[in-house]
Amino acid sequence: MTNILDGKALSLQIKDEIANEVRALTAAGHRTPHLAAILVGDDGASQTYVANKEKSSAEVGFLSSVYRLAENIDEAELLKVIDFLNHDDEVDGFIVQLPLPKHIDEQKIINAISPDKDVDGFTPINIGRMVLGQEAFIPATPKGICTLLQRNNIETEGKHCVVIGRSNIVGTPAANLMSRKTFNCTVTMCHSRTRNLPEITRQADILIVAIGKPEFVTADMVKDDAVLVDVGIHRIPDSSKKSGYHLCGDVKHSEVDSKCSWVTPVPGGVGPLTIVSLLQNTLQAYKKKYNL
Ligand code: NAP
Repeated sequence: MTNILDGKALSLQIKDEIANEVRALTAAGHRTPHLAAILVGDDGASQTYVANKEKSSAEVGFLSSVYRLAENIDEAELLKVIDFLNHDDEVDGFIVQLPLPKHIDEQKIINAISPDKDVDGFTPINIGRMVLGQEAFIPATPKGICTLLQRNNIETEGKHCVVIGRSNIVGTPAANLMSRKTFNCTVTMCHSRTRNLPEITRQADILIVAIGKPEFVTADMVKDDAVLVDVGIHRIPDSSKKSGYHLCGDVKHSEVDSKCSWVTPVPGGVGPLTIVSLLQNTLQAYKKKYNL
């Protein structure tokens, strides 16, 4: 039987938990946690992501603010905004929505974020702390994957986890986290130069797919009863839909799902947990700041 790793339902539950904690904190006289976002340019997908983050912040009782900057802003100006937020005592954490325009050095911008406010967990300090198993802000999407597995009591100890993708924001941290003591998996990380990919993915007890290619993973690449986590999200033009598109993942769910013991749907799987992880990281930053 195929079970659903229901990210939507779990995200509502965790948002409730965060909202209760925020209510208790403010009732005890503490100020309201505050998450800020920097949005450069007017990319449609980035605007949607930031709007969702604002909406979710409001749902749990956080303050949120968005710094909307022009597409042609220069690096020095952007660094000034980051410096301002790094020093703003009323902001607990902030994110810089990626991707940034081509003329800006993304890594330089990330490196300028204070590690104490880096709630996306993208700075070298936080990645380093994560790899060493120290207290860190864990990047939101891999953290969401971990939460989905843990809250659904998925057995991971000694299992073979195959991760397709090695990006800094998903594949690399996901592979690291699955290999560490909380999960105790044996991990194989695959990428575009991997040979015989289907042969490797067929060995996966847990298959995490973050490849960025619509419906890439097909039934012949998945073993029976695998736990399947599909990180991909794509808008496919579709004239039969009112919106003009439908959403799909990196996995061909129509043929793969029935083989799996657990599967994340798209949408409603990893996506909602990504935003929740950002909220959790913001609360973590806030509590650390006040030793709560
Ligand atoms: P990315 O930066 O494009 O990385 C894709 C990875 O897949 C790369 O490591 C690449 O290898 C590898 N790859 C590409 N073609 C391959 C092939 N034929 N065989 C094996 N590996 C291959 O993407 P990302 O940022 O990690 O995101 C992955 C997907 O997750 C995207 O669909 C994205 O939209 C989605 N996403 C969703 C959420 C969410 O909240 N649901 C959050 C973040 C991302 P190389 O390193 O060799 O190039």
